[in-house]
Amino acid sequence: MPIATDSSVHDRVGRLLYCSADRFVANVCEGEHCFICDRTEREVDFNREHILPNWLLRRFGLHRGSVTLPNRKLHGYGTYTIPCCVECNNRLSKHFETPISEAFVGGLAGVKAMVEREGPERIFQWMALIFLKMHLKDRLLRKHLDRRLGDTAISETYDWATFHHLHCLIRAHHTGAAIGDYVLGSVLLVEVDPNTGDEVFDLASVTDAFTFYMRAGDVALYATFNDAQACVGAIDHVLQGITGMLNPAQARELAAELAAANLHLTNRPTFQTLMSNPDGADLRIVAHVPACGPVFADKDHDIVGFVKHFLLNHITGTVEGRSPEETAELLRQNKISFLFNNEGNFIESGRQSDKRASIGTWWQKSVAPG
Ligand SMILES: [Zn+2]
Repeated sequence: MPIATDSSVHDRVGRLLYCSADRFVANVCEGEHCFICDRTEREVDFNREHILPNWLLRRFGLHRGSVTLPNRKLHGYGTYTIPCCVECNNRLSKHFETPISEAFVGGLAGVKAMVEREGPERIFQWMALIFLKMHLKDRLLRKHLDRRLGDTAISETYDWATFHHLHCLIRAHHTGAAIGDYVLGSVLLVEVDPNTGDEVFDLASVTDAFTFYMRAGDVALYATFNDAQACVGAIDHVLQGITGMLNPAQARELAAELAAANLHLTNRPTFQTLMSNPDGADLRIVAHVPACGPVFADKDHDIVGFVKHFLLNHITGTVEGRSPEETAELLRQNKISFLFNNEGNFIESGRQSDKRASIGTWWQKSVAPG
């Protein structure tokens, strides 16, 4: 089948291989098509795809838990779903949920073993999948729960085209597209203390920074989706300073550091899907990375503080000797840290030994291509 007018590419039996940005925005972000295969409910059976997979909801007792949405209201994890066709739903389960749920049985060690065995692709794409589903869901949820303030969707301010790269990435198992060097962004796997008495699960995303964070049991997972792995290098001094297990606030602060780094990146890579002929043979996703390597702007404490306040404002009442308002202001100014004390030393939570936290980072390539 020839290339469509919107530049999408189908294979000879009509299956959508490359989904163009225009088609993604029109059919997935603004339409009701299956977000993987582009078919509609008129063509094929649909069911609901959980944004957080069922096994995760079960394992961490989240069916009755809630997600904090950008409108600050809570939505039950168990009903947090988007439409997807049955066939694609089953394939997503098989490709992502079965192997990843098996890895999570072993906690941090299990997830780490999976990544060391097969590379970071699957876990990275899985995080991208949850991040994209979370944002697609936002168009179905109102920004203001008070109807008198209007029916605007949470997603009103999203520039959907900027999510196109994620869409290509999470469809790679469906299209068979190869993943080129630097197509994956930063990935971090960090050990957290599961016995702090806090909730065993936490989830947050920073939309503008394309950064995702999830804490489940003793595992904290981090990803930045559009940085070609630059940001994990930019926060190396933070990672080097972590000498013990993270507590929940520290885990979130690390997410803020990663997100803030991405907001300082001045020469962002671009991504493209290539093929050898109009039928979409040898489909591959490639990254164009600046030959000079990543360049970051000078640290802007207002930006770092904005992200830290966004991710940590719910715990401003927990800082000894300070009012919640004072703590919130210090967060905004990037003048308070849960990770490091005034001397720059890692703040031990007190419950764990002083062994160095287990931090895993993965690079597809250690040097930038010429
Ligand atoms: Zn489908």
